[in-house]
Amino acid sequence: MVEAEKSQRNSLSTENLSAAEAWASCLEIIRDNINYQKYKSWFHPIKPVALDQKTLTIQVPSQFWYEWLEEHYYNIMRSTITKILGEGARFEYSIVLEKAEQEHQDLAVRMPQRSSPPVQNSSDQNEQVQNGYDTSYSADSIRNPFVIPGIKKSKIEPNLNENYVFSQFIEGDCNRLARSAAIAIAENPGKNSFNPFFVYGGVGLGKTHLVQSIGNKIRQDYGDKFSILYISSDQFTNEFVHSIRNNRAREFSMFYRNIDVLIVDDIQFFSGKEKTQEEFFHIFNALHQDGKQIILTSDRAPKDVPDIEERLISRFNWGLSADLQIPDYETRYAILEKKSLENGIEFDGEIFEFIAHNFKSSIRDLQGAIIKLLATASLQKIDNIDLPMAKRILKDLIKETKKHISIDDIQRLVCDYFGIDPNKVREKTRKQEVVEARQIAMYLSKTMTKSSLKTIGLHFGGRDHSTVIHAISSVEDRLETSPKFDQVIKDIQQRVELASM
Ligand code: ADP
Ligand code: MG
Repeated sequence: MVEAEKSQRNSLSTENLSAAEAWASCLEIIRDNINYQKYKSWFHPIKPVALDQKTLTIQVPSQFWYEWLEEHYYNIMRSTITKILGEGARFEYSIVLEKAEQEHQDLAVRMPQRSSPPVQNSSDQNEQVQNGYDTSYSADSIRNPFVIPGIKKSKIEPNLNENYVFSQFIEGDCNRLARSAAIAIAENPGKNSFNPFFVYGGVGLGKTHLVQSIGNKIRQDYGDKFSILYISSDQFTNEFVHSIRNNRAREFSMFYRNIDVLIVDDIQFFSGKEKTQEEFFHIFNALHQDGKQIILTSDRAPKDVPDIEERLISRFNWGLSADLQIPDYETRYAILEKKSLENGIEFDGEIFEFIAHNFKSSIRDLQGAIIKLLATASLQKIDNIDLPMAKRILKDLIKETKKHISIDDIQRLVCDYFGIDPNKVREKTRKQEVVEARQIAMYLSKTMTKSSLKTIGLHFGGRDHSTVIHAISSVEDRLETSPKFDQVIKDIQQRVELASM
């Protein structure tokens, strides 16, 4: 319908219009002018309350709602009400106060629609165009007395630990790709090809530190321009469940859609939580579509996270996945040096070497060791800790860190070494390379674990204990005759030890 016609038809019946009719006419126009999904989300739940001459009072479910409308739909609402009720018409909001804050339910406050559109000074607008942002969160609440401060972009508490910054994150081969991608993201959030950015790796390898560094850098460089939220997947799940219980699922969802940089840590805990995954899926889509930055971490690669919907996994792969590996010796050494330097205590190089050799698989453990030394030094006022003392102090920690070696681990590492599928050693195959790997894995299972021959046999596809004995003795024979074979076994042994620390 042509605009002029529509306006005429609508204003014809203005005089004896009820609030419901006036609002229905407004809805018609609004629906034609905005995305239907948004119309349904934001305008459907609104109830008309009263019409007093040119003021139409509408009830919105919360203060957040009111602010959202004023931020995003001011212009369309203003022009619509003018079309329906004529010049000088305006909305007034009746805001249902949140029950939690009020003893009585159904309390409402009234707010007039503000008299001017959201403030967007020209430089703000230029920036928005450059960055492709379509909403302004400028200092509007200060300039406009009618807007009550509430959940606004700049007001979201990012939940970041200030100590997790790039300058404290030591670079090494183990983290180079992830670290440089993280810096690139921090420099240009949302506007890069690393979206989502998926960081994965074992416990204590720096995932949380790295992703929080992104948030901290954005904050430092851009101030409140980007609203950032760091949240663990557990916390996300809890909040979601809570929101459903309190009938606030829609607000939960809207809150998340308002974020520019969303960091969700340890998403493996979404496993098996279907409803949460579904909600996250929608939030993910909305943010991604709007060019907002999404950063995720997990203890394993996207495809290996169990019980996660396929459509989510495929989205996790849209951007960049980068893993954090076990740090090499040099990186471990550098981390130790930096930590003790920060604490103003110097240790001999041989102490660093000792720690770096004994804490291999987690930076958290590595740090735990140096902190224990530092603490002992300062508590006991020891100026100069020597190596034997360090060994004594760290003895228990080292014991704790040593993990139990399993037959499965050995199978995996041996097969990895020879580049064959680990399932093969459990199958009946008689292929020469598989037989060799199987025998070595059996030998190492006997020498490196406390398992009985029977248990070992069972782990290799239910083989008899005599087969295991045969395998062990043939490996022993070869060890005696072939130095080359001896070296191979030593290499594999080292890998197993390393993996079990
Ligand atoms: P994850 O989240 O992977 O379990 P964290 O980010 O919690 O690991 O890291 C564990 C500890 O190790 C933290 O105290 C962190 O500051 C530290 N850390 C991790 N990686 C590095 C690194 N590359 N340089 C310095 N400290 C690190
Ligand atoms: Mg973590």
